[in-house]
Amino acid sequence: MNIILLGPPGAGKGTQASRLIDKYGIPQISTGDMLRAALKEGTPLGLEAKKFMDQGALVPDTVVIGLVKERIQKPDCTKGYMLDGFPRNVSQAEALDSMLGDLSQKIDHVVCIEVPSEELLGRLTGRRTCRSCGAGYHIRFDPPKKDGTCDKCAGELYQRDDDNEATVSSRLKVYDDQTKPLIDYYSKQGKLRPVNGVGSMDEIFSRITAVLG
Ligand code: AMP
Repeated sequence: MNIILLGPPGAGKGTQASRLIDKYGIPQISTGDMLRAALKEGTPLGLEAKKFMDQGALVPDTVVIGLVKERIQKPDCTKGYMLDGFPRNVSQAEALDSMLGDLSQKIDHVVCIEVPSEELLGRLTGRRTCRSCGAGYHIRFDPPKKDGTCDKCAGELYQRDDDNEATVSSRLKVYDDQTKPLIDYYSKQGKLRPVNGVGSMDEIFSRITAVLG
């Protein structure tokens, strides 16, 4: 099963993806995570991507399309995969359709997690991540027991560089301008599965698994 998780920054795509991959036994492919990993390693691609990420802008299509093309041909993707944060605009979606056509594959479901825009800013600026194990927290909705420290591994919690208020505002605008048209794109293909993204993590997880069958 090949799935796309669509939704604005802060909708909970990453959180839900990490639970869904356990249930369906398919890998999560997050272009944002791949770019952050490249940046951490200091590769030329990562350093180039940083310029765009710091501004909340999209990294050039050719870069992310290349990353995804290589990733979906890895052996762990034979049973399917869950794309998180890709495609982000119509030209990426068209490139994906064409690359999947070449590989005799297709997207089965596009789960769109819907959250009112007023909620997103607070969700994003309160996010914290563990530097050691990657566990996610929220200072208001899902705080760690001890401030700044991961419950699971006692690692240090940090805020993503692009989760500050100014960059978040740009990211939300980029979503409205460039990513939202994908709702129409996939609706026309009969693949769109809208899911209400307001509620507890468990509630949203159940709604998603209900539409995936
Ligand atoms: P995310 O972790 O999905 O919120 O992505 C963080 C940042 O990485 C975005 O604001 C973009 O700068 C970049 N990025 C992630 N995925 C893509 C993509 N599919 N196309 C272009 N830029 C991306």
